[in-house]
Amino acid sequence: QSTQPKMVYGLTEGNASMKALLGGKGANLAEMTRSGLPVPQGFTITTEACRAFFRSGNRIEDELLAQIQSALHKLEEETGQQLGDSESPLLVSVRSGSVTSMPGMMDTILNLGLNDDTVLGLAASTGNERFAYDCYRRLIQMFGNVVLGIESYHFEHQLHRLKKNAGAELDQDVTAEGWKNLIASYKSCIKLKTGRDFPQQVHEQLKLAVEAVFKSWNNNRARIYRNIHHIPHDQGTAVNVQRMVFGNKGDDCGTGVVFTRNPSTGDNELFGEYLVNAQGEDVVAGVRTPHSIAALKLAMPVIYEQLAQVCKRLERHYKDMQDIEFTVESGKLFVLQTRTGKRNAQAALKLAVDFVKEGLISREDALQRIEPSHLDQLLHRRIDESKVLDLLAVGLPASPGAAIGVAVFDADSAAEWKRSGRQVILIRPETTPEDIHGLLASEGVLTSRGGMTSHAAVVARGMGKPCVCGCEGVHIDLEARRMIAGENVIEEGDWITLDGASGRVIKGAVPLREAAVTAELLQMLEWADDIRKLGVYANADNPEDAETARSFGAEGIGLCRTEHMFFAPVRLAAMQRMIMADAKDERQSALDELLPMQQSDFEGIFQAMDGLPVTIRLLDPPLHEFLPKINELQRKLENAFRTEEKIQLAQMIRKVQTLHESNPMLGWRGCRLGIVYPEIYAMQIEAIFKAASACMDRGISVHSEIMIPLIGHASELMRLRELVDRIAEQVLRADRKGASGYKVGTMIEVPRAALTARQIANHADFFSFGTNDLTQMTLGYSRDDAEGKFLTHYLEHKVLAHNPFQALDTEGVGQLIEMAVTAGRSAKPSLKTGICGEHGGDKASIAFCHEIGLDYVSCSPYRVPMARIAAAQAAI
Ligand code: ADP
Ligand code: MG
Ligand code: MG
Repeated sequence: QSTQPKMVYGLTEGNASMKALLGGKGANLAEMTRSGLPVPQGFTITTEACRAFFRSGNRIEDELLAQIQSALHKLEEETGQQLGDSESPLLVSVRSGSVTSMPGMMDTILNLGLNDDTVLGLAASTGNERFAYDCYRRLIQMFGNVVLGIESYHFEHQLHRLKKNAGAELDQDVTAEGWKNLIASYKSCIKLKTGRDFPQQVHEQLKLAVEAVFKSWNNNRARIYRNIHHIPHDQGTAVNVQRMVFGNKGDDCGTGVVFTRNPSTGDNELFGEYLVNAQGEDVVAGVRTPHSIAALKLAMPVIYEQLAQVCKRLERHYKDMQDIEFTVESGKLFVLQTRTGKRNAQAALKLAVDFVKEGLISREDALQRIEPSHLDQLLHRRIDESKVLDLLAVGLPASPGAAIGVAVFDADSAAEWKRSGRQVILIRPETTPEDIHGLLASEGVLTSRGGMTSHAAVVARGMGKPCVCGCEGVHIDLEARRMIAGENVIEEGDWITLDGASGRVIKGAVPLREAAVTAELLQMLEWADDIRKLGVYANADNPEDAETARSFGAEGIGLCRTEHMFFAPVRLAAMQRMIMADAKDERQSALDELLPMQQSDFEGIFQAMDGLPVTIRLLDPPLHEFLPKINELQRKLENAFRTEEKIQLAQMIRKVQTLHESNPMLGWRGCRLGIVYPEIYAMQIEAIFKAASACMDRGISVHSEIMIPLIGHASELMRLRELVDRIAEQVLRADRKGASGYKVGTMIEVPRAALTARQIANHADFFSFGTNDLTQMTLGYSRDDAEGKFLTHYLEHKVLAHNPFQALDTEGVGQLIEMAVTAGRSAKPSLKTGICGEHGGDKASIAFCHEIGLDYVSCSPYRVPMARIAAAQAAI
């Protein structure tokens, strides 16, 4: 008995739960073997053996060799054939198989065990010389490529020439003689490129092949794939060695791939392709156009029936749609691989719902299978194809969804324009981490360079924003701030449309179709609503967003930011007059102008949310954000003619200078503004109550919740609450005052507020955790400066596991939230609690909110369905 760990498992020894050790392919082959399906015999070398191989400097240790030898002996006994036998040689495949499926990323070698001698045996024993040499040329090509590192095109080129000279259209038309000639030229190619001969020693072939498959874990495409899919680089791959079954022996043979259901619609029908007289690689390689699986029903009815049975069995067994490789050898069906089939979002939902209806899985299982990315896909906006499109260029479809916005050519402008309420598309030759704030601010991203894994593509996908990259058909002139596409010139500020699903760049603002909520999604959401405990609200600043949110099932508005309402040109002018005012009555008259506008905004929102709570946050940003930039003003001043204009500009410059702060985010903003200038907040509160009254008079049920931002001290809230109550007294009818009529609460976003939650709760009806600011202030990371700078470094070097602005820092920030909830509720048991930062739309953060018993999460309208599902997943 060896004391060494077991590094090789026969296919009868493993099972589906051993994926980590045997890889997905090996574990499933073992599971299928156990359940009696026709799987060619073989064995699996473990991922641990692969890691040991890397540890010992890419060397196969003797112990592993010995274990492989003994497994091979067993295989030889089972099959009655021997590797290297000159009469009836055993041939095997050597296949990679990682823990997480990485389709086509690593290497496989078929027909191993052939050499100049055994090929004669194979020909004689099968009575099929052409077949034997077909296998041999395939082996030499795969071996040459995978083990000896000769690029495939060298072989392809020779194959092509051979076919051309022989007048053969297809591989099947090549004769035994033809293959022999090709083999001769393949061999000299190997000699020429590597200085050595194709190894005739079959055990050496096996050892080299195993090594090569191990090493293929680290090839470039596998690394890139792992980076994109967040698969760890240290797992290693298992290696499966299996007796060959032959789909290339004649016309009663073939090979194919079948999905147990349609992976793009979810329909309950077999979906796939097959080739007659071919080996596995041919289907993917596109050597010939395969037939659809439906054709198999006519061509080989018995096999089709068996295959359909296998599909049904595997689907029942794994309780999910399977992606299956099969080969037919002389009228006998073999299964070579099964795995959970990849699917698009629509199919994912339909499959999950259908499986529940078929009794295969529970509602909870179905909900657990929904990934946020599925909903992202389904819920993205699309281009209205019925319109005539003015196509500028087509690039790579890097991140799905359609976006419209005005062109901007640098990240700072993108961020600035967005802040002033405009929709922008960021256009760059390529993006770097320094552009992150611009990416964040834009509706979509267009780059002229870089592939699907370029910075822009990866970041945009991460943010769920549409992105078209590598669009070489456009010329971006950063100096002139314009983009040229053929005859068309797009200047900064011109509207364009991106379709990240097809890569199209379109001139102008094309109407977009809103996301489709399918019947299956509705069903799933209904199940989610039954299960979840958390409420789901939305962040919405205007009636349109409120309606969208409601149509997605939002149960209220958790954050309505009022500052965005002031950026429209007419309002901005009044706002600036208000800020510039030296005397109180001057300020008041500007505010009087703003009041009816605010009121009509609120009426629209109350109407859209009839019957549901609407949380309105009073003005939050520092006042200087409403004034022009100082250098812009100075430029204007230089060009001004009229004295009056000059005086005005000079005044404004002085005002901007006085308002200047070194740390505006820690400066005069939020409730600090409201306390020093109560008339601003008073106007907003009055507008809210007047809107509420007007709506209630029309029979609308209004539940307004007034939220005071940036409270750090109970006395701040106490004063502002008095202001709210006083105005309510003046504006509201008697029956609409008091606790039932409106609520007053605060955002908890300053750490001191969380620490003194008990005192603050005395003055608050609700707490809404503003986790963006709370994260910023708790970690001391400036949100506008961290990303793309040190934070990016931190994440790359794993100083932090997650971006705390995306996934709630549960340990730190989360602790503050939990403390504040407990303390707040102990002072006021009826206290309502929720969260309204970016985190409200993040799956893991939602799970945390569920755990600590918040009443609701609030997120952007498009994330509402996802949040409903995530809240249910948290409750399962
Ligand atoms: P990949 O992971 O790239 O699909 P595989 O290891 O699954 O690589 O093998 C590539 C192709 O070779 C597949 O079509 C597979 O079915 C086929 N194949 C692998 N092993 C055998 C075998 N023992 N007999 C016949 N065909 C095989
Ligand atoms: Mg495969
Ligand atoms: Mg804030």
